[in-house]
Amino acid sequence: MEEAEAPGDILGLEVILPEEGKKAPSCPHGPTLLFEKVCKEEKSRRFFACSACRDRKDCSFFQWEDDKVSEARLLAREAENQAKRPGTSHQESWTRFLQFCGLPLHEKRFCADCQLLLPPAQLASHSSHSTSLVTPAQLRRPSLLLRPLDNKKSQAQYLFTERSARFLLDSLAAGGYRKLLCVGTPRLQELIKLRNLEQKHEPMKSLLLDIDFRYAQFYSQDEFCHYNMFNHHFFGGEASSNILKAFLAESGGEKVAMVADPPFGGLVKPLANSFSLISQTWRKLQPSDSSDTVMPVMWVFPYFFEPRILDCLPSLVMLDYQVDYDNHPLYKHGKMGRKQSPVRLFTNIPAKDVVLPKEEGYRFCSMCQRYVSSLNKHCTKCNLCPSKDGREWKHCSACERCVKPSWKHCQPCGRCALPGHPCGSAAADQGCFNCGSRRHKRKACPEKDTHRENRFRTKGKKVSSQNPLKAKRKSGAARRARKLSLQLLTSAVQ
Ligand code: SAH
Ligand code: ZN
Ligand code: ZN
Ligand code: ZN
Ligand code: ZN
Repeated sequence: MEEAEAPGDILGLEVILPEEGKKAPSCPHGPTLLFEKVCKEEKSRRFFACSACRDRKDCSFFQWEDDKVSEARLLAREAENQAKRPGTSHQESWTRFLQFCGLPLHEKRFCADCQLLLPPAQLASHSSHSTSLVTPAQLRRPSLLLRPLDNKKSQAQYLFTERSARFLLDSLAAGGYRKLLCVGTPRLQELIKLRNLEQKHEPMKSLLLDIDFRYAQFYSQDEFCHYNMFNHHFFGGEASSNILKAFLAESGGEKVAMVADPPFGGLVKPLANSFSLISQTWRKLQPSDSSDTVMPVMWVFPYFFEPRILDCLPSLVMLDYQVDYDNHPLYKHGKMGRKQSPVRLFTNIPAKDVVLPKEEGYRFCSMCQRYVSSLNKHCTKCNLCPSKDGREWKHCSACERCVKPSWKHCQPCGRCALPGHPCGSAAADQGCFNCGSRRHKRKACPEKDTHRENRFRTKGKKVSSQNPLKAKRKSGAARRARKLSLQLLTSAVQ
């Protein structure tokens, strides 16, 4: 099925979350997502596309919502989905790993071209490939052995620095969590296992959920599920989702927390939906007399997504801690001093309980009751520590809020902006594409919201009110912070 000519003047793409009982067609990455193209001139139109791949080159699935798909086409699609399944089952991979561990050192090889562990029997078929010996230490660090996926648009893998991974682990261990659900955080899972080997701490359990099936070579079915976090799809079916259930049940009083580090190109709404579904599963497994209603979460994502994330999951707050990565040139420590990383933690664990390291310049703000960056100075007028990017912000009395240091108040625009911004820009004049009002944008349109809310209420079984992560009401400060970050979003690069 070919996509029709893309409608002109696309204003944006919205994801429409699946309604209960409605089945979306599947691509090799599980059920597709329903997108709505919001256009200026034409009527909006909806289509199904892959949840995991943003680039057509990686997954070409496309279907208009109202397309009639022929039986032949459905069969061909099913055959294609089957053909794209991994050639080896998880069980086979794991059995091979156990045998592999028992081999003498000189027989343990890894094929860099195929990204496979090679027992002697398979060596011949990889004779023209680049293979090398693997040490037992390397077997314990698959994230160092495997080549990080570098597909920019969807599955790029950015691995935590030792510093950030340790910080996450130590913070969660200090919070009393004994089971970590690692969603898209293979390096964290690996460090948990290494930490257990040290036998200096109370052991932690972990379960990795990731779309990268290469990890099935190193972990048993109880430690790794092949999973798509954009549609909450378990490639291993019910057996696999039951493993998550078993993990989330806090038998023996072992507290669970989740750490997720999705690809940054990812869509916030479907991610939030999957995390809510995980949290709901957790909630159902809690004893009925438990007062805990939200599963503790740490979502690693850039600060300029704060408004989007809080929109979807208002119970989260953003911490000042800067997460950095080994293989991301922009987000890592510079040799000369500290480079700023834009990646933060969004969490529903009380911010005052997440102690940020003093050695790295973080301090506690007693007014805000949270740890903040050294340059994030408390503003008595705003009554908060305003900085989002780690630099010192300044208060603008006309805007009645704090802004980036590089911004100046602009009279014609009536707000602070970068000097040299397009003044009274065209976009600002266009107003709302939903109702035509010049007072707000489509995103903020009250009509659109009531429309959506109603739809969720009637058909989607009250998604918003049942969502346990949404429990907390927004405070005035949170609303202000959100407004603030909305402007950051449009100028995240300045
Ligand atoms: N910082 C993390 C890695 C984050 S990179 C660490 O050091 O452990 C993003 C991770 O998400 C990768 O492991 C990637 O394989 C995984 N991923 C990408 N798309 C995914 C999807 N649709 N579903 C599940 N996992 C995905
Ligand atoms: Zn796909
Ligand atoms: Zn403060
Ligand atoms: Zn201020
Ligand atoms: Zn101003």
